[in-house]
Amino acid sequence: MCIFCCTFASKMNKDLLYKELEEWYEVNHRILPWRETDDPYKIWISEIILQQTRVAQGMEYYHRLVTRFPDIQSLADADEDEVLLYWQGLGYYSRARNLHKAAQLMKNHEIFHQAMRRLGDKARGEEIFSALKSMPGVGDYTAGAIASFAFDLPYPALDGNVYRVLSRLYDCEIAFDTTEGKKHFRKLAEDLLDRERPRLFNSAIMELGALHCVPTAPDCPTCPLNTWCKALANNTVELLPVRKPRPKVRDRYLEYTIYITPEKTTLIHQRKGNDIWKHLWEFVCAERTGEEAIRRKAKGEKILELTHVLSHQKLHARFVIKNVSELPEIPDTVVVHLSDLDNYAFSRLTLKAIETLAQR
Ligand code: SF4
Repeated sequence: MCIFCCTFASKMNKDLLYKELEEWYEVNHRILPWRETDDPYKIWISEIILQQTRVAQGMEYYHRLVTRFPDIQSLADADEDEVLLYWQGLGYYSRARNLHKAAQLMKNHEIFHQAMRRLGDKARGEEIFSALKSMPGVGDYTAGAIASFAFDLPYPALDGNVYRVLSRLYDCEIAFDTTEGKKHFRKLAEDLLDRERPRLFNSAIMELGALHCVPTAPDCPTCPLNTWCKALANNTVELLPVRKPRPKVRDRYLEYTIYITPEKTTLIHQRKGNDIWKHLWEFVCAERTGEEAIRRKAKGEKILELTHVLSHQKLHARFVIKNVSELPEIPDTVVVHLSDLDNYAFSRLTLKAIETLAQR
């Protein structure tokens, strides 16, 4: 823990800071559907979507999901394939699988029944927070967000926006995405939190990071926190926050074969194992080495080439169409009519290929 940050935090006039920040929020915040509710289920859905998705894109998915699965029971009772279909295109599919698994666990968990019926009270805060954190896909951030937004419990919610605001407010050079950094910033956030109004405070500091204390060229002269901001005083705003060095991006070469019969049927299979796009569907796929991919390209076996970037992987995909009189026998594949592909969840890469090829 950085002694300087601690000392600075303890010397702050926090009541005045809360007043400035929360008044700024009341005037400037965006109207978002998950902010208009204190339903823990809907807040949970929104927080899982927003973990790796921008608000504009996440909004459509939020409405689709809560319309089709309006409560924990309906989500728990659905097939995983259907949940993936509703998540299709949003990426990071482990979020959807974890949502589904968590709903199945929660429906039998008494603390959630009580909480969802609004019987949770502040005295049971730790119990609710721990139960939330025990769910798949729910870490410190999401548990803190649900606990504070749904139950007004005093837990910080540190997302990327909040890390940025805190690192600038305290002029802190510790990389926020390391184990040490996470601990350090959590301590700062706990210390700074407005314990009287945790829901309002967390919403306000997150919104300040999203709209005002943005990564490049933040509007410091009109910022409600500029009186306290150490980075502004020390002219280090653009240097913060600090991250750990990013891992090298790995290149992968995927070759998809789209068999098509005169009856317009094809073969697809579901991805298994601990790899990208687990449980999503795709055409028959072979992974090549970089050299093999170059050799096959030279042979002219090309129909459509797409590049798709994931967080740590760059995928070089080639889709080859093979017109055949009958489909080959390939283990673990299923036969589908081309007009039924809509009923299966595909990765964004495969969806893009389907759309592009359909337009030809
Ligand atoms: S003064 Fe500038 S850098 Fe500091 S918190 Fe406000 S917007 Fe961010």
